Amino acid sequence: MNASMQELVAGVKEKNSGQPEFLQAVEEVAASVELVYEQYPEYRSAKVFERMIEPERVIMFRVPWMDDQGEIHINRGFRIEMSSALGPYKGGLRFHPSVNLSILKFLAFEQVLKNSLTSLSIGGGKGGSDFNPKGKSDNEIMRFCQSFMNELFRYIGPNTDVPAGDIGVGGREIGYLFGQYKKLKNEFTGVLTGKGLSWGGSLIRPEATGFGVVYFVTELLATRQESLEGKRVALSGFGNVAWGAALKLSELGAKVITLSGPDGYIIDEEGVSGDKIDFMRTLRMSNEDVVAPYVHKFSEAKFVSGKHPWEVQCDIAIPCATENELNEQDAELLVQNKCICVCEAANMPCTPQAVEIIQNAGLLYGPSKAANAGGVAVSGLEMSQNAMKLMWSREEVDKRLHEIMKAIHQLCVKHGQKKDGTVDYLQGANIAGFLRVADAMIDQGLV
Ligand code: NDP
Repeated sequence: MNASMQELVAGVKEKNSGQPEFLQAVEEVAASVELVYEQYPEYRSAKVFERMIEPERVIMFRVPWMDDQGEIHINRGFRIEMSSALGPYKGGLRFHPSVNLSILKFLAFEQVLKNSLTSLSIGGGKGGSDFNPKGKSDNEIMRFCQSFMNELFRYIGPNTDVPAGDIGVGGREIGYLFGQYKKLKNEFTGVLTGKGLSWGGSLIRPEATGFGVVYFVTELLATRQESLEGKRVALSGFGNVAWGAALKLSELGAKVITLSGPDGYIIDEEGVSGDKIDFMRTLRMSNEDVVAPYVHKFSEAKFVSGKHPWEVQCDIAIPCATENELNEQDAELLVQNKCICVCEAANMPCTPQAVEIIQNAGLLYGPSKAANAGGVAVSGLEMSQNAMKLMWSREEVDKRLHEIMKAIHQLCVKHGQKKDGTVDYLQGANIAGFLRVADAMIDQGLV
């Protein structure tokens, strides 16, 4: 990094000390923005990046709720409205005990660039709570969601801010949140995405992130005249994203051999496909753990405690669980084991050191802000369908999703092309995402 960018990053670190995930995301993008600033000084003089990393608004609130035993609990709720340069703030809500300002600011910042890559008219935001939905009854989840919305409703709206799901927030939670918003505002609008199909949801939305990642992997492989057919794929997590990815991978002839939870991973050499994917989905929908019941039901599967799936020999690795879940040692193992492609389905799942190892070893690498943009892209399509008050067919949505993922891949190639003919996908995604937001910010003046 040159001196002026180093100074900028040092200032951000000082101002946001104690926010390691946010700083990690800013630092990664800063290295790419430096190149843009050198080529186009007008972005530097307009301090576009400096403005982009400061949220337009941070909302933090109390969420009191009562459990089934009558005991009162108090959680913290957040909404980061990061950028409205391209459209209403858009990004998921995460309910997980690890949620804090740093994690949500990192996710919101990444979301701005990701949403820009989709070419849709959506700004970026993120929100959530340190509430842990695990082990809670349906009624407790409902009361929590209602209390959360009792405050959030003031700040969101179909043309202002449109939240969706993320870790710990699926169809059930979106339903309870929507119901409370409707009651408070007395209006039925597309204020959330990921809704139920009978009340404004889009077909393919639950599968979209996983499907999109697999479409992106297909594009990556095609650059080396490879396909998914017969490839061994290691997945982590067992949530919504892992489910969608497993479904599309097995449809396209790949073999999914691992899933994981926070305590270890499952290896299933016969492949996670068909009934096994349905089983995973059914358990997940009822908020239950998948790992132990899976090993119990399918005797060919084995559980490896306390380890990451990245030690298993695979052709393709797709981390689908959470940030920084694939580290330096994991990356080295993947390289040693002749893995050819690492594609990020979770947000920022590879540490910066792991990304460096993967890229230096010449593996194909799909960065999360490009590869997992399919989820928000279909959320954008859900907003369009709501605005037009119609519903597209499964084929129509899937076709549009596929086209968007191909276009994102092309943008990465265009902006990540290096002198030696190879492509730096991380740089390509950062620069392409940045430029669209930057141009809109300049057009809209100093606001
Ligand atoms: P889910 O809650 O459905 O699943 C998350 C999975 O990751 C679960 O298997 C969960 O296990 C595991 N997990 C969560 N936190 C941790 C942790 N700290 N350590 C290890 N494992 C963990 O979430 P999604 O599938 O929706 O999201 C997964 C990732 O994909 C996240 O990074 C999310 O931001 C990203 N993403 C999601 C999109 C979507 O459309 N849903 C869109 C784009 C990105 P357990 O439940 O046992 O904790």
